[in-house]
Amino acid sequence: MESTSIRLTRKALLKSTAMLATVFAISNVQRLLGLGDRAQASDTSVTGRATDVLSGRPLAGASVSATPGDRQTQTDGQGAYQMALPPGRYEIRIAARGYIGMSQTRLDVYAGQVRSIDFALIPEGLSASEQEAAQARVLPAPASQAAPPPLPADLDRPVPQLALPCQVWVQTPDTRFELIDLEEYLKGVVPAEMPAYWPAEALKAQAVAARSYAVAYAAANGFICASASCQVWRSIHYATTDAAVDATRGVVATYGGSVIWGFFFSRCNGYSTRDSESALGSADGWGSCETRPWSYLPYCRARSCTGHAPGNSSCWYTGHGVGMCQHGARDRAAEGKDYAQILRSYYTGVTLQTPQTVSLASPADGHSAPGGSSLPLRWTGGMPEYKVTVLDAWGTTIAESSWQSSATWNIGLPTLPGNYYWFVRTRNTCGDGPASELRRLVVTVPPRQVHVPLVNKSTTR
Ligand SMILES: [Zn+2]
Repeated sequence: MESTSIRLTRKALLKSTAMLATVFAISNVQRLLGLGDRAQASDTSVTGRATDVLSGRPLAGASVSATPGDRQTQTDGQGAYQMALPPGRYEIRIAARGYIGMSQTRLDVYAGQVRSIDFALIPEGLSASEQEAAQARVLPAPASQAAPPPLPADLDRPVPQLALPCQVWVQTPDTRFELIDLEEYLKGVVPAEMPAYWPAEALKAQAVAARSYAVAYAAANGFICASASCQVWRSIHYATTDAAVDATRGVVATYGGSVIWGFFFSRCNGYSTRDSESALGSADGWGSCETRPWSYLPYCRARSCTGHAPGNSSCWYTGHGVGMCQHGARDRAAEGKDYAQILRSYYTGVTLQTPQTVSLASPADGHSAPGGSSLPLRWTGGMPEYKVTVLDAWGTTIAESSWQSSATWNIGLPTLPGNYYWFVRTRNTCGDGPASELRRLVVTVPPRQVHVPLVNKSTTR
């Protein structure tokens, strides 16, 4: 701040313009008094700089946008940008050619406030040595005093629900609690736990592990913390990790029908992961080689993991050693394995599934039934509510159920023969879920009505 003040004053003197000097003097006074952050209502804005995370050089011409509102600007020759914004909550996105796009989400801008948000962008296509150099700059620094992980005693208790929560309570870094959409929460976890420039399949494996862990943790505790005690969350997103979360939307790993605790850690000894009963850690945190037994988890068995250098502790592990080894996941992705293969290689006997789905069961596509008859329509899925819609061949809705939790509905078929179609929509407490495909139903001519004339017996001759 001192040097800024001197530089500006010198510049002002060189200009020899009294007015300019006055302007600079005022701005300096504001800076020195810390008034820059709350001067006038008209000062409400977001400002900052874009730089290359490796070289630190400013990025000119990067496009910066704010949503909601679709405001856009570009960084200047010094990599600086400024956007006037009405008070509100914003996502500030930045994109520059040759760099991984990133954004600052959940940014609250108050009246009269200037928020400063700098972006250190990651170049695309980093070499191996550049990746090593970048890693410490893109992942959050480990807390100086790593908190001991609060492990529930009954890790082996099944997570009761398969339907995923649509939102989770997150204890944010400033210890407030915020209700965040599960998928948005994960977009803040993946890049905080794995470098955003790692292979796409490793990022997807991380997304599924983090989703499973979050669902299990939140089911057991009612919330999830944003530190390494749970899994790290920040309000910073990257295009690559957003894509990994979107590509695996709703996918979790399950064992015996329950969502698993998707434990993961940085790096094993280059030989094997560990059984859950011989997890590493101590009351001082993860960076310990003491054994700290957890419950027996059938899906967290020691698995072979080779191809990467050992971790940097005295026992060659970085982290607790249980579940997915992140460096091993990176190597497996680089070998061409997909995220499902990566996850199954670390979590023994798990099934990958998307509980938030609906699939039609019966009748089969093209099933025919006589007009006017009643037919049960059945489906399966993990959503709380369903609605069936029946369409005619022109796409007009001819029948619709109400929202219901039951996975079956009886339709009284129309009498007009022809092709009809049905599908099922889903919803949960935070909105619409996936819909099923369309299925064809062939309505045939109703059985011939046999008319038995009524005869009045009294008139019978
Ligand atoms: Zn490993």
